[in-house]
Amino acid sequence: MIELDHVVKTYQREDGTPVPALRDITCRIDAGEFVVIRGASGSGKSSLLNILGCLDTPTSGVYRLAGEDVSRYSDAERSAVRSRRIGFVFQSFNLLPRTTAVENVEVPALYATAEVDRDRALALLQRVGLGERSRHFVTELSGGEQQRVAIARALMNSPPLLLADEPTGNLDSAVGDSIMELLTDL
Ligand code: ADP
Ligand code: MG
Repeated sequence: MIELDHVVKTYQREDGTPVPALRDITCRIDAGEFVVIRGASGSGKSSLLNILGCLDTPTSGVYRLAGEDVSRYSDAERSAVRSRRIGFVFQSFNLLPRTTAVENVEVPALYATAEVDRDRALALLQRVGLGERSRHFVTELSGGEQQRVAIARALMNSPPLLLADEPTGNLDSAVGDSIMELLTDL
């Protein structure tokens, strides 16, 4: 499913100084695997996830997703790959404010297809334990509930790959545990 071959990511400071984030990553993750990446702050976890999620590209090396070399894809090509293959959950939820839970879950479908399956969005909210909250504005929901909406949204297009960058980082530990439990179930 995921193959990284000598992936390097080096950022550039404003003054041109290079900032190495990923030095030489080679790994393979198969379909059906559940993998946790741990490391100190600044160790490159987000840099790696952004590449895996086709939000960013490696400075050098190869990333193959489902056999497709996406390492040098343009922004538009990566957007297309994301909407077909990847669900992404962020630490800060990144939901649309002044919008209901179910409308947030439908967003990926708007990008991928012309029509939106409202019943599917409602079923996903049910699946993450928010069936009763589907018409609430996201600003009326707790942090843990907002992250559940974000997880339902990430599943809307049935992606084979679900990525989460510190999905419990903004939650207290009990709520964080319940989010990890949900991700493990999924
Ligand atoms: P983590 O997610 O593990 O905290 P990051 O991937 O965010 O680590 O960061 C890895 C390194 O890359 C850090 O030294 C960080 O300062 C640097 N870095 C991350 N993003 C940028 C960027 N856009 N520009 C310059 N340096 C960056
Ligand atoms: Mg990070």
